[in-house]
Amino acid sequence: MPVKIDYVGSQLILPKIECDCGMPHDVPDIDIYIGSNIVKDCVEFIGKRNFGRNAVLVADNITYPLAGELVERLLTQAGYHISLCLLEREGVLEPDEAALGEILYAMERQTDFLIAVGSGSINDLTRYVAVMTGKPFVSVGTAASMDGYTSVVSPLLNKGLKVHKPGVYPKVLICDLEIMRNAPLPMSISGFGDVLGKYIAIADWRLGRIINDEPYCPVSVDIVSQALQKCVDNMDGIKGQTTEGIQSLIEALILSGLTILMIGNTRPVASMEHNMAHYWEMMQLVRKVTPPSHGTAVGVATGYMIKFFEEFLSRDFAKVDLEKVKQNRLPHEERKKLILEKYGPQFGSAIIKENPEDFLTWEEQERRIKRVIDREAEIRRELEFLPTWSQVKAIFERLGAPLTAADIGLSDSQLYDALAFGKDYRSRYTVAKTADELGILDEIVQKVLGAYKGC
Ligand SMILES: [Zn+2]
Ligand SMILES: [Zn+2]
Repeated sequence: MPVKIDYVGSQLILPKIECDCGMPHDVPDIDIYIGSNIVKDCVEFIGKRNFGRNAVLVADNITYPLAGELVERLLTQAGYHISLCLLEREGVLEPDEAALGEILYAMERQTDFLIAVGSGSINDLTRYVAVMTGKPFVSVGTAASMDGYTSVVSPLLNKGLKVHKPGVYPKVLICDLEIMRNAPLPMSISGFGDVLGKYIAIADWRLGRIINDEPYCPVSVDIVSQALQKCVDNMDGIKGQTTEGIQSLIEALILSGLTILMIGNTRPVASMEHNMAHYWEMMQLVRKVTPPSHGTAVGVATGYMIKFFEEFLSRDFAKVDLEKVKQNRLPHEERKKLILEKYGPQFGSAIIKENPEDFLTWEEQERRIKRVIDREAEIRRELEFLPTWSQVKAIFERLGAPLTAADIGLSDSQLYDALAFGKDYRSRYTVAKTADELGILDEIVQKVLGAYKGC
């Protein structure tokens, strides 16, 4: 039975998961409102939760006039005491030590809750302060740019380096479509890129289930697939930033985020395409270059991975020469050296330490290869849902979205390294690991790069 997504008024009713996959299916404690001109109802939405009367409102110079000012005024009129933390920046707001300090300074002993008015960074900063101070928070979203509104991780910057700190999800999330529609188009395109990445996440998860008997939740996949399909169907509305278009986009982003909360990990929504995006982000930060926005990078990586899958599926798995694969296996020490070289000494050693199961014995590799050969028909059937590369290219063109790594400021070597070594970012199973284990990774990467030559 497909899960049905419903609303009561503007409140999204969380889908009830009836599923016997064995994974947890928690229902997160969050009120989600999506609709046009609903910020004006924020007093009612927030009042229902009885957080108290004292709040810190976090906004920047862009989001404050968009929505922060109105929220502040309405709550003040309703008798709340709001202390404003206005993060004023000339350029992009970075989620760094200075911003965190400003939020803490705005807090008082009697602060009952926080309100984040913004998208990525403002929510990441606020969710970290919320978890560290034990206060609930409300999020008023201003752009459908990423799927992290309900995240429990805070990607922040410490001395210019990325750190992943804990966080909490908001108890109330308000997405006003009138505001989100008016966000700059590249932000919506970024959100769409993050959604498109779910193709790869689902495909990789299916491979993991077939090849490694990974736990798999068909209902989560159904929720994410439905949301993804709705977005693709509404592509023109997303480009035109119509109410319906942006609704399908923010719905997809939120449902993806909720799926993570329900099953307790990001398996249904992030895989190789996210590894590549994280890799690029890390590389750019090390070089002190502003990285492309998360969703935009995920979108670009998704294009490459769709082509990767196409190449992968064009192979005859039965032709794999086991002896040759065994001979060409990279010795343990050499693999370690490569990871350290590609990821840098600090992050590289963390990867090696965190993913010991990535250094397969030959017996395990052989078992996986045999499984691929034995279950080839099932693999092909389960991956039939993937669009073709030319369909994906057409989507990018129609949206006017960046397609190539060069379009988002990345070099050829950063592209190659992400495709060839993105698989090492974490132990999560991906098609790039399958290809590596079959001894055809480099061949496929070269084909993918060749196909993009003319773009
Ligand atoms: Zn993402
Ligand atoms: Zn399930």
